[in-house]
Amino acid sequence: MSTALGTPTLEDTYARAVPGLVLPFTAAPAPDPHVVALDEDLAAELGLDPEALRSSGLLVGQVPEGVRTVAQVYAGHQFGMYQPRLGDGRAVLLGEIVAPDGTRHDLHLKGSGRTPFARGGDGKAALGPMLREYVMGVAMHALGVPTSRGLAVSTTGERVPRDTGPLPGAVLARVASSHLRVGTFQYAAAAGDADQLRALADHAIARHHPQAADAEEPYLEFYRSVVDAQASLVARWMLVGFVHGVMNTDNTTISGETIDYGPCAFIDRYDPQTVFSSIDHAGRYAFGNQPMIARWNLARLGECLLPLIDADSEVAIENATAVVTSFTERYDGYFAQGMAAKLGLAEPDDQLVRDLLTLLADQQIDWTTFFRARPRGEARDLFLDREAFDAWAVRWEARRDPAADPDRVNPVYVPRNHLVDAALTAAEQGDLAPFREMVDVVSRPFEERPGLEAWTEPGTGPFVTYCGT
Ligand code: AMP
Ligand code: MG
Repeated sequence: MSTALGTPTLEDTYARAVPGLVLPFTAAPAPDPHVVALDEDLAAELGLDPEALRSSGLLVGQVPEGVRTVAQVYAGHQFGMYQPRLGDGRAVLLGEIVAPDGTRHDLHLKGSGRTPFARGGDGKAALGPMLREYVMGVAMHALGVPTSRGLAVSTTGERVPRDTGPLPGAVLARVASSHLRVGTFQYAAAAGDADQLRALADHAIARHHPQAADAEEPYLEFYRSVVDAQASLVARWMLVGFVHGVMNTDNTTISGETIDYGPCAFIDRYDPQTVFSSIDHAGRYAFGNQPMIARWNLARLGECLLPLIDADSEVAIENATAVVTSFTERYDGYFAQGMAAKLGLAEPDDQLVRDLLTLLADQQIDWTTFFRARPRGEARDLFLDREAFDAWAVRWEARRDPAADPDRVNPVYVPRNHLVDAALTAAEQGDLAPFREMVDVVSRPFEERPGLEAWTEPGTGPFVTYCGT
């Protein structure tokens, strides 16, 4: 177990469990590293001393003698197209840290050099996208959404060439409960080594869904647990208005955490068609498509697990199909519960929610503002057609639980895209003040504070977000 140190004990249970799914890789040295963001709360949760950590070199990949750092291999469907070999092209798993509370976390770097999986990429990352991932992780964690979290962002002292010209290079040190992806199972299943696939599944069960080990059909129960964790996760995304942007199967976790923040963003006005990502031309990963896409990705996981679920492939298919089909009901249940909490209802009411969503879409109402508007008159003022709102609000009133406290679940502040954009642009030009303010704002999303009014205003979009490359 790690103590309050800068350099924790780094374990390698993953690399030992599935040696065929990792390659040794050492982070490229950073010529002139500077820590520009460090999550001290997260450091403390991991039992690490922030000051020691800053000077340890660990945040740019300097590990103690004898620690084997690795790049992980995975496959995946990118925008629906199967890629048999993706893997960490510019990332490295430094190891696993067991926190003082006994929980296990991957410590992973992104932007740490070209690995054998880099294909055409340079293995590097620019400061802006790494800061985006960092702040999004802070916001999502504060909103109660399971997520990987940025421990630190360090500039490297290098400049990295990008389409717009050279940008300051950076490395993100991130922490996740693991980096097991649907794509990891796709790679293992395609490799055709039954023992390795089983070892991967057993590792995933022990690490994330241990109750499945005791079930009558452990692998089917494991599958059900992943489906449920993802249904819950995506419902939370939809409740806070988060668009992941690149829901490829390699960006879909087994743990049920949000991972691989690329061109992600929060919606302003409610519109299920919202797409921010510059690379999502067809709108495959539009806001409103996310539940359906998650289910599709989970169907791909199910295909991988078939040989473990039952030796009789027909039985396996039948059982796995029932599980993936249950995604919709699970998702609907989580979403309905979440909306009931957001509206302060005594119990879920699907028709009331459906009608609200139609109203919000028709009248282009800002998602975050609507749920936080108090008193009701203020919510009414958001609508152009106020009579339509009034008719709905009468029904809302009748179903409200007077004891409910929706402010607990409805944020005042989310990282609004136009402000994220401005803060990241300033950071790339050397001014980190707007970024630091943004981290502070979104780390306490539910508590209204004076002077932060700009953070409650929707942008005048449309805004485009770019991939982390
Ligand atoms: P992403 O869309 O960020 O999830 O990345 C998809 C794949 O591309 C992963 O295998 C990444 O490791 C790889 N990749 C993205 N950017 C780079 C880069 N600059 N250099 C090398 N590989 C990259
Ligand atoms: Mg990815």
